[in-house]
Amino acid sequence: AVSIESVVKRYGEHTVINDVSLSIGEGEVVAIIGPSGAGKSTLLRCVNLLEMPDSGRVTVEGYRVDTGSAIPRSALVALRRNVGMVFQSFNLFPHMTVLRNVSLPQERVLGRSTAEANARSLELLERVGLAHKADQFPGRCSGGQQQRIAIARALALDPRVMLFDEPTSALDPEVGLEVLAVMRELADEGMTMVVVTHEMQFARNVSDRVVVMADGAILEEGDPDQVFTAPTQDRTRQFLRAVL
Ligand code: ATP
Ligand code: MG
Repeated sequence: AVSIESVVKRYGEHTVINDVSLSIGEGEVVAIIGPSGAGKSTLLRCVNLLEMPDSGRVTVEGYRVDTGSAIPRSALVALRRNVGMVFQSFNLFPHMTVLRNVSLPQERVLGRSTAEANARSLELLERVGLAHKADQFPGRCSGGQQQRIAIARALALDPRVMLFDEPTSALDPEVGLEVLAVMRELADEGMTMVVVTHEMQFARNVSDRVVVMADGAILEEGDPDQVFTAPTQDRTRQFLRAVL
């Protein structure tokens, strides 16, 4: 579903992603872990081209963007349309109701009518356990609820792949669990997911594969149990010792 090939990203002299290749299959859940500054967020942002790599190729659902040459806007739009993203900060519109927050992007991006969009929004709010909040404003919702609304909003655009960048790190642990439960359900339903996370339980128990990054490169990747119990790299061992 997603293929990253030889991606390089630099900020000035600083190479932040150094020739990274990674493929994610249909329905696969990949957790990306690693120390701060490893390049996890940058790599994720390269998948939907929120960051434009300096070189390399990114393919999502058959839409391929080859950097280095001029990229047709249509290819960029087509690729992005298949990717939903959820950030650490939820970025909901404070002056719009929860329902409107979920419906508006569907109208803007997919051209759905308000009635169609609202119906789909309610379905998704129901799924994340928040249909009863539809007519309230985000400020009246807890952090965990707001993050679940952000997930519903992303799902409403019918993405084929969902990217999560530390979706629970701004939340109290207890509230984070509600969000992780929704993500787990999504994984069980077969959604293709790439999750940058510091939640080692989630990485170990929910993901199909764990990718460990450091210094802009993939240190190792593999089956979660293998990576957590028998990592092949000293650097991974060192990282796991620090966070577990
Ligand atoms: P964290 O766990 O703290 O979120 P991360 O693994 O997500 O870290 P990135 O945010 O991808 O790391 O950052 C990787 C490196 O790139 C860091 O050294 C960071 O300072 C640098 N960096 C990220 N964004 C920019 C930018 N817009 N301009 C310059 N440098 C940047
Ligand atoms: Mg990050």
